[in-house]
This record gives sequence, structure tokens and C-alpha cells, in this order.
Amino acid sequence: MERFVYTASPSRIVFGADSIDQLPAEIERLGAQRALVLCTPNQRGQAQAIADRLPGRVAWIFDEAAMHVPIETARRARALASELKADCALAVGGGSTVGLGKAIALESGLPIIAVPTTYAGSEATPIYGITEGGLKKTGRDPRVLPRVVIYDPKLTLSLPLDLTVTSAINAMAHAAEGLYAHDGNPVISLMAEEGIRACAASLQPLRENPRDLPARSLALYGAWLCGTVLGAVSMGLHHKLCHTLGGTFDLPHAQVHTVVLPHALRYNASAAPEAMARIAKALGVADAPMGFFELARTHGAAVSLKAIGMPANGLEQAVDLAVSNQYPNPRPLDSVALRTLLDRALDGAPPG
Ligand code: NAD
Repeated sequence: MERFVYTASPSRIVFGADSIDQLPAEIERLGAQRALVLCTPNQRGQAQAIADRLPGRVAWIFDEAAMHVPIETARRARALASELKADCALAVGGGSTVGLGKAIALESGLPIIAVPTTYAGSEATPIYGITEGGLKKTGRDPRVLPRVVIYDPKLTLSLPLDLTVTSAINAMAHAAEGLYAHDGNPVISLMAEEGIRACAASLQPLRENPRDLPARSLALYGAWLCGTVLGAVSMGLHHKLCHTLGGTFDLPHAQVHTVVLPHALRYNASAAPEAMARIAKALGVADAPMGFFELARTHGAAVSLKAIGMPANGLEQAVDLAVSNQYPNPRPLDSVALRTLLDRALDGAPPG
């Protein structure tokens, strides 16, 4: 056994169908009295129904969460939290909503209770991101890690099938890169493998019936594991590319992960054979990159960057940005090889 360092996440996880019933008790445990409820405009109804469980303990429902946490939105939410003397943020939604909670917590230290409704995994990480002037800055700070996460699969029943598929693949991308992280460890690798297995196994039953509760539970359990991996170890080329493409060309987060993952894994495959074998085993396939490509295609997700809005003339810039900072990756970054990778991803060719 090689030497390793493992730091366990201090978040409290409350998991299971109807676990949202525990919300009042969880707020009580935190000693909080006035929750600022956060959501996107289209999850207002879901957030309201959850707020209704907390009579007299909701300061406001702020329904302006948006992808990539625009600084203007973060400033409005921060001001509101301080004006209303909120003593916790209750984020009901996906990565965008949890991200808004983190932007508030970063300045104020306000405790976050996260109620995730996608598989993005932000609730399991101390990573925040805020976009200002078209540039998304990310960082790590223990203050932004939610204190409590309530994973209730019933709240994910309404997640549309297309986002279910891409969000689950987004989750699996965290685990896949976690398996070859330079700062990985055996515990996180167990979580990663199990996370991929659970997310992948949930997709066929969810395609047949998006309201299949056991399959929703399996996906959410997998998403928690994969998010924990993201929070614990460093990500490599895949996350860097997705961050660059998503931020610079305003591509949808989960979809861009779905398109890029097979190609990023093929790029790294020869330098990370053990990780590839574990991913393939978890997917139940012979080849990890091809396994993800087929998974996306079988379940109707877009497999080309073109199909999700990437301009063909942006590839040069994307390569330059991807190699502009050095970061740990199993295979050294090479502009020519990255350009080939992105050309294939643009056209939706199988991982080469
Ligand atoms: P999202 O939060 O933007 O949600 C996408 C859309 O789906 C929104 O309109 C949302 O309201 C809707 N939605 C969510 N759950 C639903 C449900 N159950 N039923 C119906 N509609 C629902 O998308 P996302 O993919 O969850 O998050 C993406 C964002 O999160 C990106 O900005 C990404 O950078 C960030 N993120 C951050 C981290 C981190 O650790 N900091 C990790 C993962 C993602």
C-alpha cells in the first residue's frame, strides 16, 4: 500500500425518500431561526413547498439563482441575507443554487443547508465559483461546504430525463478523474468506483420511467459519492477543459461534461491504466472512454460540442486556455493532441 493522506468531509448527510421531513429538526440542530431560501426561478414552487415546512422560520425566498453564480446575483443575495438577519441559507436546487449559497457563505460564514435536486455534486465540496466580467473564478474554502445535506430522491423525480442523463454523467466525471488524481487515496477510490457503478446503473430504469424511486435513490447515492470525490481530490484535464469551454463559450454545464468526458479519458488512458480498468469495471464495459460515449448515446444525450452550441472557430482559443496554466494531469498537456481531441468532440466522433 502506498502512502496517502485522507481527510473525511465533516458534512452531515441525511439520505433517503422523505428525508426532507427532517429539515425542521436539522435547522433546530444548527440553532438557526431565519432561513434565506435559495432557488432558481423555475424551482420556486418546489422551494416554496419546502419553505412551508418551516412556519415562522423563513426570512425570504430568493429565486434568482443562475448558472455560474453571476457576481451581481451574489451581491443581491448577500445584501438580503444581511438586511434580513438570516442565520442560515437553505439551497434547494442544483449546482447553480448551491453555488449561490456558497457565494453568501464565503463572505458571511452563514451555514448552508443544501437540498440537492440534480447530480452535480456541489453540495459535497468546499469549492466555490463566482463569475465577474465574463470570467469565472473558483476557489476552495471550508466555510462554503454545506453543514448539512438532505438528499431526498423524491425531490429529483421532476428532473427532466435529458438533464438526468447529463447530470449523472457530470457526476461520474468527478469520480473518473478522482481515480487518477495525483492526491488520490484508497478510500476516495472506493467511493469513486461505487459512485460510477450506482449512477450508471440508474440510467436504464430512469429512461424507462423517470419517476422510478429506487432508481432515483441509486442515482442520488451515486451523485453524493461522486461529489465527495470532487471535494476531496484534484481534478485534471477533463474538468479544466469543461470549465474553459463552459465559461468562455457559455455552454451548458452537464452537457459539456457529457460530450468531453470520453475524449479526455482517451487522452489520459495510456497514462492511467489502473484508473481506466476501475472505471470500465464500474460501467461493466471493456473500454472506459468508449463506455461513457456509448452511455451518453444510448440515453439520447448530445455527443458533439456543435450540438450544444460550441462555435467551430473557438477551438484554438479553447486549446490556448486549456494549456495556459499547468495543472496535475496523468499525461502532460500537448497543444496538438488537445486540438485533435477537441476536433473529435466538436464533431461527435467516438473517442479516438
Ligand atoms: P443547475 O443547478 O443550473 O440546474 C439546471 C436547471 O435544472 C435549472 O433550471 C434548475 O432549476 C433545474 N432543476 C434542477 N433540479 C430540478 C428538478 N429536480 N426538477 C426540475 N428542474 C430542476 O445545473 P447543475 O448542473 O446542477 O449545476 C451546474 C452549476 O453548478 C455550474 O455552474 C457548475 O459550475 C456548478 N457546479 C459547482 C460544483 C462545485 O463543487 N462548486 C460542482 C458541480 C457543479
